[in-house]
Amino acid sequence: MTTLAGAGATDVGRVRSGRANQDSYFVGDDLFVVCDGVGGHQGGEVASSTAVEAIRDHFNQRTLVGLIEAVLYANRKVWEKAQGDPGLRGMGTTVCAAALVEEDGEARVAVVNVGDSRGYLMRQGELSQLTEDHSLVEQMYREGRLSREEADVHPQRSLITRALGLDPDVEVDSWQILPAAGDRYLLCSDGLTNEVSDDRIAATLRRLADPGEAARELVRMANEAGGRDNITVVVVDVVDDDHAAEEASAALAAEPGLESHTADAPAEPEPAPAPAGRARQRREPPARPRRFTWRVALFLLLLLGVLGGAIAAVGWYARGAWYVGVDDGEVAIFQGRPGGLLWWKPTLEARTGLALRDVPESRRDDLERGHETADRAAADRYVANLRDEARTFQRTTTTSTTAAAPTTTLPPP
Ligand code: MG
Repeated sequence: MTTLAGAGATDVGRVRSGRANQDSYFVGDDLFVVCDGVGGHQGGEVASSTAVEAIRDHFNQRTLVGLIEAVLYANRKVWEKAQGDPGLRGMGTTVCAAALVEEDGEARVAVVNVGDSRGYLMRQGELSQLTEDHSLVEQMYREGRLSREEADVHPQRSLITRALGLDPDVEVDSWQILPAAGDRYLLCSDGLTNEVSDDRIAATLRRLADPGEAARELVRMANEAGGRDNITVVVVDVVDDDHAAEEASAALAAEPGLESHTADAPAEPEPAPAPAGRARQRREPPARPRRFTWRVALFLLLLLGVLGGAIAAVGWYARGAWYVGVDDGEVAIFQGRPGGLLWWKPTLEARTGLALRDVPESRRDDLERGHETADRAAADRYVANLRDEARTFQRTTTTSTTAAAPTTTLPPP
């Protein structure tokens, strides 16, 4: 069975301490919500807590559409409350929620957001932001009017362009993701992301296995970095995916025409079904979690280079040699090392027509072992020399025989 396990932490921050925390969150078995309220007096905290309760109470249909409807319901609840109380007029809240839902009988993790509270997915150690901030600064960045660096430190970066409670209707962004065991979702208010970089967030999520510890540590880091806003963090782990990822991998691998690397990433965020209400469906999937980064590629390339270099060096050493040896009783010239080296075997390059038995005995052992020479020319010279020696040897043998014969057969005078 697909199972999620999450934990959350919140803190008022350092600068706003003494005032109420306007963030609210909820951690259930299969529903997780973060809301960051805005509005004077008690507006912010009322808006965020109203929204969290409304979503919790109204999320009955365990589908993405059901989650979107719960958010739309929360929007109306906050809006109605704001209309009914002059002190709360103009209040609103962001929302980022994740839930375990079903789609065609299969489990999915649904993520929705409105405003600048973010949803992230950490898969195989790589953190990617799923949601897009609905903020003025983010819009200016998308329009090319600000650089990423300028947007990240812009004084007006908390001005949101979309929120629950400002209008009877609202546009909700949504995603559906196939759960894979080991996936970790992070939902957080901007009190975290304005203080702590994505890299540091990722490092903490990798380091701390317990979701509660990770959430508390992220809140602590945001406070340490300044704590200029309320900070809320919910960490949700996919502890069991009911073999969904494995089965998806197998299905992809079995499909012809698909490159093998696609089989490694079965749980790609997929487009959500048409949701009810004025919900906006994400057209483009979020950046796919990368497992094959350029660092890994560079490392592999270097490793291959070193291995290739070592093999080439051994090959050069093994093949860059010559020796004179024996092949089937005949003196022959070989390229390579006598007996071979690793998988480089010596090759027979030339037969000489010179029989081993014709070579002086003193040379035979050396030839049987293989007489190494610096190059082919040296091998040829060595053979020429052997040939000369062989002739002398034969002559000597013949001479001594013929010279000895008369001596022994000579009759006494
Ligand atoms: Mg905030």
